[in-house]
Amino acid sequence: MTDCGCEKAKAELEEYLHNELCREDVADITEHMKSCDDCSAEAEVGRVLMQAIQRACQEKAPADLRSHVLERIREVQSSH
Ligand SMILES: [Zn+2]
Repeated sequence: MTDCGCEKAKAELEEYLHNELCREDVADITEHMKSCDDCSAEAEVGRVLMQAIQRACQEKAPADLRSHVLERIREVQSSH
C-alpha cells in the first residue's frame, strides 16, 4: 500500500460509524485508524457526536451535557 489511506478513511467515515460498510472496508478503515492519529481522532469526534445525537433523540439532552460534548470535541480538534 503506497497510499496512506486517509482519503478513503475520511470519505467513508460516516458509513463506517453507522456500520453501513462491507466487512472488507470496515477492516481497512479499522486498520488505518490504528496507525493514523488524525483519522482516529476524527472517528472519535464522530462517535461522540453520534452518541450525543442519539441520546438527544431519546431524551432531552441537558444543556450541560451538550456543552460537555462540545468541549470534548474542541479538545480533540485542538490536539491535532
Ligand atoms: Zn488517516
